[in-house]
This record gives sequence, C-alpha cells and structure tokens, in this order.
Amino acid sequence: MKVAIIGAGMAGLTVARRLQANGAEVTVFDKSKGTGGRLSSRSFEGGWIDHGAPYFPVDSPEFHDFLTKYLSAETLQRWQPPVSGTLREDEKAHFIGVPRNSAITRALLGDLCFQPSTRIARLERGPDGWQLFNDGESLLGVWPQVVIAVPAPQALALLQGQPSLAEVIAPVKMEPCWVAAVRTKTKLTAQADISVYQDTVVRRVTHNSAKTGRLNTDVYLVQATKSWSVAHLEESAANIGPQLQKRFDQLVASDATSELLFTHRWRYAFTETVLGQPFLWDDISKLGVCGDWCLGRKLEDAWQSGTQMASQMLLAAS
Ligand SMILES: Cc1cc2nc3c(=O)[nH]c(=O)nc-3n(C[C@H](O)[C@H](O)[C@H](O)COP(=O)(O)OP(=O)(O)OC[C@H]3O[C@@H](n4cnc5c(N)ncnc54)[C@H](O)[C@@H]3O)c2cc1C
Repeated sequence: MKVAIIGAGMAGLTVARRLQANGAEVTVFDKSKGTGGRLSSRSFEGGWIDHGAPYFPVDSPEFHDFLTKYLSAETLQRWQPPVSGTLREDEKAHFIGVPRNSAITRALLGDLCFQPSTRIARLERGPDGWQLFNDGESLLGVWPQVVIAVPAPQALALLQGQPSLAEVIAPVKMEPCWVAAVRTKTKLTAQADISVYQDTVVRRVTHNSAKTGRLNTDVYLVQATKSWSVAHLEESAANIGPQLQKRFDQLVASDATSELLFTHRWRYAFTETVLGQPFLWDDISKLGVCGDWCLGRKLEDAWQSGTQMASQMLLAAS
C-alpha cells in the first residue's frame, strides 16, 4: 500500500504511523517547516513557546497508549497546575510535550518519509492514482491512495474535483483565534498558570514558562475570544498584538507592563460546527479526509479521527 498524507498534525501523523506499522509505504507532506500544525511551538531565546494548543487532555486509555507507544516518558508529561476560572472540556489540563508541545508530533514523525515546506495546491486523478501538485504546479508524484488531514476549509479547497466529498464537508465551520506571547517584567505571583476569563477580548492565559523544559521565564500565551478574533480577523498582527497585550496587563493587574514577544493568527483554530462522523473515505478513488473537526475541537479528536481513518483503509485493503 502506497499512501500520500497531506498534513503533519496529530491526525495526519496518526494515520501515517498506523499505516506504516501495517506495512504501508507512506509519504507525509506539510506546508510548514516542521510538524505539529495547531500543536506547534516556536523557538525563543534558546527555549520554546507553544503558540497553538498550550496543553491537552487525554481522556481515553487508547489515546494514552498510542502516545506512550511512540513517546518517551520525558517527551510526554502530566501538567496539572493551578487554574482560575471554569475550563471547558477541551481546555482541561492533563498533558504537555517536553521540551515543547511539537516534540510530540516530532516523535510521532520518527523515520516516516516527510516533505516539509510543501503546500499541496491540488490533486488530480490520473490512470495510476492521485497526482499531487505543489504551489509551483510541479508534479510531486503519483500515489494510489491519498489522505487529506488538514482543517476543513483547507480540505474543501483540495476537493474541488470531488463534489461528493466536498458537499459533505461544506457545512463544517471553523473559528479563528488570535494569540499573543508576552513576557512580564515582574513575576506574577498571584496569577494561576491557567486562567480562563469571562471577558470580551481574552479567553485564556497560559503560563508558558511554568511548563517543563521551556527554558524561559515569565512568558504567557494570551488567547483571544472567538468573537474578538472574528471581529479582528483581517487586521495586521502589528495592530492586534498591542491590544491583546494591553488587555492582558489589565486582567493580570500587573504593576509593570509586559513586553510583547509575537502575535499569531490561527485562521482555523477550533471547530465550530462538527462533521459528526470520524472521517470520509471514497473507496473508489481511494481518497480519505480526516482531522479534529470530524469529531470535535480537541487534540484527542484529531487522533480519534486519524485512528479510524487508518482502520478503514486497512480494512479496505485486506
Ligand atoms: C490557540 C489554540 C489553542 C488550542 N487549545 C487546545 C486545548 O487546550 N486542548 C486541546 O485538546 N486542543 C486545543 N487546540 C486544538 C488542537 O490543537 C487541534 O485539535 C489539533 O492540533 C488538530 O490536529 P489536526 O491534525 O486535525 O490538524 P492540524 O494540527 O491543523 O494539522 C494540519 C496540518 O496540515 C497542514 N496543511 C494544511 N493545508 C495544507 C496543504 N494544502 N498542503 C500541505 N500541508 C497542509 C498544516 O500546516 C498543518 O500542519 C487548540 C488549538 C489552537 C490553535
């Protein structure tokens, strides 16, 4: 079985790992320089800042087993720090990657064949399978089977020639999220490591430096609310950063103002309207689609979707 997987986030790498473990020849593509997708981390002054999911719950023993099969005890650690405010299910703290969250997807990648910095611009069905083209319209190769493991709107763009799959995905909605990394000039002794606010601008603040291995001090990730992110979606990062920083300063009531480190827009951060089935698979054209948005809005949903996608493909091949 020869398979191309588009997307090196949790969903894509889960499919890749399961298929490779069952003898498939897998190639993974991602438009970014590395793995992780929305579980990404940025290097900063020799340490790390997690600017996607700051941590994640692991609810099922099967997800835990999968992670511990591929990750060392040092890479996957429990993190249950002081919390203020009421967390939603997907915001509940359980685990982090060490020294950064993207260490998890890096470990899952292992020895898989990976083509980073390669955005798949389109797919075309030829006599021998799927032809994949990059942004420059260069043909990257032909694969009998392809899995698209990217956020729903990006999957839709790749499914232009597949109306039957595109139609099913079309109702899925995803919401944006602006985030800013800030560093305080003094220690916030009264601030919980995870704070959730009932605020119009800021939803959640996570103390990045409180997580093992980040090698920085007093760095916080500030996550904007859905409505504020939607209202300011097309503004520049240069404009957004200072606004999030100012609101952070007010919320944490810090005497000294903070320093803004960087701002990032996640255009498709969270699932708003879920697909309601774990994956899509067209057994005639051998094209599959998976991702967190099939089942929910958290990392474990991405894993669950990828797991079931791979099971279906293995079943179809048997
Ligand atoms: C700010 C933020 C906070 C979050 N907080 C939490 C939390 O507290 N708890 C929790 O459980 N979850 C949280 N999440 C959600 C969690 O990160 C996602 O559910 C999960 O990472 C989704 O994994 P995925 O593999 O489905 O998609 P992604 O991680 O989005 O992976 C898709 C990959 O596809 C690549 N890609 C897209 N299009 C193309 C293309 N055309 N060609 C090549 N590559 C392409 C992307 O670069 C990306 O790497 C958060 C997300 C964000 C953004």
